[in-house]
Amino acid sequence: MKAEVPPSPDVIIAGAGLIGMTSALKLQQLGYRVRVMDRSEPGRGASFGNAGYLATELIDPLSTPETLCKAPRLLIDPHGPLSLPPRYLPTIAPWLVRFALAARRHSVDSGRTALAALNASSVAAWQRCLGSIGAADELIASGYLTVWEKPGGLGQAREKQRKLRQYGIESEILGHEEVHRRDPGLSQAIQHALLFPNAYQVSDPYRVVQRLVAAFREAGGEIVEASVEDIRVVDDGVVVTSDRGEVNAKHVIVALGAWSRQLASKLELDIPLETERGHHLTLSGRLGALRQPIGSADRNVVMTPMQCGLRIVGFSELGGLFLPPSAKRYRTLKHHAAALLADSSGLENVDEWMGFRPTLPDSLPVIGKHPKHSQVQFAFGHQHLGLTQAAITAELNADILMNKTPQIDIHPFRPDRFNRH
Ligand SMILES: Cc1cc2nc3c(=O)[nH]c(=O)nc-3n(C[C@H](O)[C@H](O)[C@H](O)COP(=O)(O)OP(=O)(O)OC[C@H]3O[C@@H](n4cnc5c(N)ncnc54)[C@H](O)[C@@H]3O)c2cc1C
Repeated sequence: MKAEVPPSPDVIIAGAGLIGMTSALKLQQLGYRVRVMDRSEPGRGASFGNAGYLATELIDPLSTPETLCKAPRLLIDPHGPLSLPPRYLPTIAPWLVRFALAARRHSVDSGRTALAALNASSVAAWQRCLGSIGAADELIASGYLTVWEKPGGLGQAREKQRKLRQYGIESEILGHEEVHRRDPGLSQAIQHALLFPNAYQVSDPYRVVQRLVAAFREAGGEIVEASVEDIRVVDDGVVVTSDRGEVNAKHVIVALGAWSRQLASKLELDIPLETERGHHLTLSGRLGALRQPIGSADRNVVMTPMQCGLRIVGFSELGGLFLPPSAKRYRTLKHHAAALLADSSGLENVDEWMGFRPTLPDSLPVIGKHPKHSQVQFAFGHQHLGLTQAAITAELNADILMNKTPQIDIHPFRPDRFNRH
């Protein structure tokens, strides 16, 4: 008997991270035959180890005049949140020039508006996505605290509150006593906080990917372990080449996170995608250490209580895709966690992990069609906000694929925005 050849999919999604899997599920629900291809287990990229927090209040692009002024000081601080290994400097120099140019006032203002629009739609999109597969319990109305130890914190909290209110993001200022009543797990060194009462976290980002995968498979979706190597445009669609051979489809969506640049360049699109290496610690025994995610404004560290334990993340290291994790970063994360927690036990026995945030110089993702080949779409580059923006990106991907007017303006995210016309 001849083996049955599976029919060609309508859509191939390259990459089974949060962006790829939310998009796969959305398109499947709209009636498309979808095949996902990933070279490893779904959700093992950046989506595995993030801080699990829907950071809707992060609407500032990373490149601002203030960041550029602070950068030299941050780079030499041994416990600072930013680092750049000297041997990577020649490789990243052209990207840094673009990053500096993105700090011009008009770029920052338009970037902030674009990020605020994506973030404002993100929680509702996650509620629709997880609600549709019976996984609404993965989303937790936790609230979020930005905390300050230094005396200048109150002024900074007021200023931040004023700025964010202009974008409809509400917060409350808490003094020393109120902070510790809200979360007794925090060190007494914390003086002030800004509470975002409407903020959400997930139970564990990897668990979220697993729930998406299970729902997608249950509805007949295919996930193939394959390393995608090339995309060729043909009259009636695309041919995707991987280490498992060639597959035809009507459309392809490239959602390879930090690894997307190479595939885009095969389609003659030079997208300046870099990576921000991010390290994390997970204290499996300290699940109840905090009541909600905490971000330290002084230390640029986020701690989130998750189902797998207390996760501590920080740092942006502009080191590309090939350098090994840095032991120094793990030590520094422990140093910050010990200062921020009332009880720092468990820090001697932690899980360590490093992942790659996909980041463009203007901090905006790439979401949209190839300018010349409408059968090819891109969805990557969500930097620190890929969990936050995954479900809304999936809805935009579907609108774009169906040639519907997207629910928010996607012009700022166009793939060819860095090319000279
Ligand atoms: C330490 C840290 C903390 C973070 N905290 C938060 C947070 O609290 N909130 C938030 O919103 N965001 C956060 N982020 C950012 C967020 O995790 C990412 O933006 C998001 O996970 C990106 O998802 P993705 O699907 O684009 O990429 P990934 O999850 O990296 O997925 C890309 C996939 O592509 C696959 N792949 C790569 N190359 C190939 C190939 N050639 N063929 C086939 N498959 C391939 C990989 O195996 C991987 O599965 C954090 C990131 C880090 C590192």
